Amino acid sequence: MSVLVFAELSGGKLKKPAFEAASYASDFAQSQNLPLYALVAGHNVEEGEIKRIGEYGVEKVLYFNHPKLEAFVEPVFAGVLKAAAEQAGARYAVMPQSYNGRAVAPRFSVLWNAALISGVTELARVENGKAVVRRSAYSGKGVETVLSHGERTVFTVKANAYGLKPNPKSVSIESLDFSPAEKDFDALVSKRIEKASDKISLTEADVVVSAGRGMKGPENWGIIEELAETLGAATACSKPVADVHWRPHHEHVGQTGIQIAPNVYIAIGISGAIQHLAGVSASKTIIVINKDAEAPFFKAADYGIVGDAFEVVPELLKAVKAAKN
Ligand SMILES: Cc1cc2nc3c(=O)[nH]c(=O)nc-3n(C[C@H](O)[C@H](O)[C@H](O)COP(=O)(O)OP(=O)(O)OC[C@H]3O[C@@H](n4cnc5c(N)ncnc54)[C@H](O)[C@@H]3O)c2cc1C
Repeated sequence: MSVLVFAELSGGKLKKPAFEAASYASDFAQSQNLPLYALVAGHNVEEGEIKRIGEYGVEKVLYFNHPKLEAFVEPVFAGVLKAAAEQAGARYAVMPQSYNGRAVAPRFSVLWNAALISGVTELARVENGKAVVRRSAYSGKGVETVLSHGERTVFTVKANAYGLKPNPKSVSIESLDFSPAEKDFDALVSKRIEKASDKISLTEADVVVSAGRGMKGPENWGIIEELAETLGAATACSKPVADVHWRPHHEHVGQTGIQIAPNVYIAIGISGAIQHLAGVSASKTIIVINKDAEAPFFKAADYGIVGDAFEVVPELLKAVKAAKN
């Protein structure tokens, strides 16, 4: 019996979601006294890159190399995950709740005949042989406890919820013995155009600077971008701002947008509607800047500044720059 973690690659590299899932899986495996395996699947991934997963408690890697795995193909990855779980003799599998993790986890769970518990935020425990774990519910307004009745269980870990726990190990790599069916490659990504690739990814960012309709128009986003750049933060926005194309849709956070949980979320000129909060309330620290002292966002804020964004943000920028110098 063991634990398998899916060390997802992004552009051929291991990134924060893989390291966070490994941190979670490593702590869970240790708590259950079980060996831990990681699956790395891609094409011609360098050995040094694969071994970086060892920084987060993994000692054994199952590596699957295939020329068509440059891009993510859900049916193939579901099969690869099942084969890895079988080769590792796993009972539990841990995956990042990333775009790809979210897409493949249900397929993999069905193939592997496992219970799926998605969006976990705390370390699972095992009671009377059954995995039990808490996760947020009702768009972050509640917490629920989920009990797995499956022989096997798959957990997806919400981004930034568990954090990175460095625990360096030396890694051994074993090849995964698996041949995907040709039909699983029926739908393949033929071309991908990366947009905003030089920017910090919103789901992985530690700090997010977000703005809403209070900014009045797209021409005023210069101070938001400058604040984000100075803080090393990603930028986000409310839904109406994306709807009227003041900002790109991939920045829209909330119930119908991306759900994030950065260490710091700075909300500027956003009212704090429940649908917006649904996507950001898991942030560790929320800072709100709004000229209306009655704005609902202040109820969810750790720190708040009542003031005009066009006066407060430039002052904040000056202060951040002075502090950095
Ligand atoms: C089914 C459904 C799903 C939805 N999903 C989402 C979602 O995923 N994400 C989302 O964001 N919304 C979502 N919404 C919309 C949501 O209900 C709100 O309408 C939206 O979040 C409001 O955006 P806003 O705060 O930018 O704008 P507004 O509500 O117009 O608020 C602007 C705020 O800026 C402040 N302000 C104005 N001028 C200044 C200034 N100079 N300085 C400082 N502050 C200023 C105002 O006091 C106000 O609080 C959804 C709605 C529905 C019905």
